[in-house]
Amino acid sequence: MTDRPVRVRFAPSPTGPLHIGGMRTALYNYLFARRAGGTMILRIEDTDQNRFVPGAEEYIRESLAWCGIQLDESPWHGGPHAPYRQSERKAVYEQYAQQLLHSGHAYYAFDTPEELEAMRERFKASKNEFQYNAASRMHMRNSLTLPAEEVARLIASGVPYVIRFKTPLKEEIRFYDLIRGNVVVQSATIDDKVLMKSDGMPTYHLANVVDDYLMNISHVIRGEEWLPSAPLHILLYRALGWEATMPQFAHLPLLLKPEGEGKLSKRDGDKHGFAVFPLQWKNPETGEVSRGFREDGYLPEALINFLALLGWNPGTEQEIFSMEQLIASFSLERVSKAGARFDIHKAKWYNQQYIKALSDEKLAELLLQELDKQAISCSFEKALLIARAMKERISFVHEIITTAKFFFEAPHTYDAETVTKKWNKDAEKVLTIFAEKIEHWQEEFTATTAKNLLNEALAAAGVKPGLVMPALRLAMTGSSGGPDLMDILAICGKDETVRRIQAAVKQLA
Ligand code: GLU
Repeated sequence: MTDRPVRVRFAPSPTGPLHIGGMRTALYNYLFARRAGGTMILRIEDTDQNRFVPGAEEYIRESLAWCGIQLDESPWHGGPHAPYRQSERKAVYEQYAQQLLHSGHAYYAFDTPEELEAMRERFKASKNEFQYNAASRMHMRNSLTLPAEEVARLIASGVPYVIRFKTPLKEEIRFYDLIRGNVVVQSATIDDKVLMKSDGMPTYHLANVVDDYLMNISHVIRGEEWLPSAPLHILLYRALGWEATMPQFAHLPLLLKPEGEGKLSKRDGDKHGFAVFPLQWKNPETGEVSRGFREDGYLPEALINFLALLGWNPGTEQEIFSMEQLIASFSLERVSKAGARFDIHKAKWYNQQYIKALSDEKLAELLLQELDKQAISCSFEKALLIARAMKERISFVHEIITTAKFFFEAPHTYDAETVTKKWNKDAEKVLTIFAEKIEHWQEEFTATTAKNLLNEALAAAGVKPGLVMPALRLAMTGSSGGPDLMDILAICGKDETVRRIQAAVKQLA
């Protein structure tokens, strides 16, 4: 078993936007596959027609592509085990359901929803919970209790039925989870799960096991919420005679709420104002829009780095990992059993680190894209200078526009408090001289030029810089704070600087 080629799958159901926890599951599968030189498969588990949401599959595809998670086999790339969409594999499941019926591991059940409900009520009255299992199955309407001719007649006449798994009464299920260690479950705790529904579609359990077997999956790496299903899956592998090639299991820890208790939900994101989905999602039915990390301004590399360390640790102090480095370092042994608290501040910190590490050119490009969305025009040269001036001061590219709008337009108003505190007659005098000097300057207008000309103006008026600098900043930006003042002047350019000084002097005098 050890030299079995590594084949893992990410198997989302297209029931809505992919949750960030699902994204992490995909990532861990991907890292594990690449580390082992194995194969990464994506399978769409869409057998639950009632929960199908249009656009969800495309959303999954786009999310993975945006994050740089590459697939080797998928509905979109094809592969040796196509189709990779379960709704297109119906006949396959039917065949194995038949096998289980013939070997006595499954049976037809004809109980109507009303009959099941009545049973439930009866149990409730005696303070018990109804389970369709070894104890109750012989009191129900199924192929174990009805004569064979009657079963054949019901099926032939088109009466709806399901196929249920005949869970063994007393069997111990032991398995070793690569994250959780030994797990032992008694089969008596598992009910007779439906394998085939009355609409002819398999349930998750049957389809999942059959496909993992047929697709030769070596490791099932999935969220903790699927741990309770694993014993049933193991029983199915046994019943189908596939135990020898059963995949190994690894159940990933939950992503927890920022407060630390309970599973992270969309509501937490709404409450605290952060995304829990990789991309923005518009609910096709309600039109409700959920925010996405991409639209919030996260770089995919930062999101990946953040997610990788939510539940896994490298065993060192290193926090910044490229995808390649993650692939080289990742192991399931270092995935924790305990849930990982979702801390959006950490995500923000990662984004900041990744922005700092961008080249000025790349940041300028991203800035131009952002400006384009807001229909603000700007040359590449100017964007490059802004990128350089702002790189260390932001966590998101869009913050350049929100916190330094003055690069793109002159202030319309001046912050009243700053005006009261920082505007003064001396500054007015110096700035007027300064503006004249700039106007007469014929060569390139750089931050150094600006500084020199300002020093000349200060000397001519006999005023200390401390009185003038905040006023100049006010004239240029409308407020206080921001990047290096001489950089702002140089970036705005000679003409614009003169215009802004003159406007401020005129308005604030
Ligand atoms: N379709 C399941 C899901 O939506 C897959 C669980 C598994 O990986 O077995 O997560």
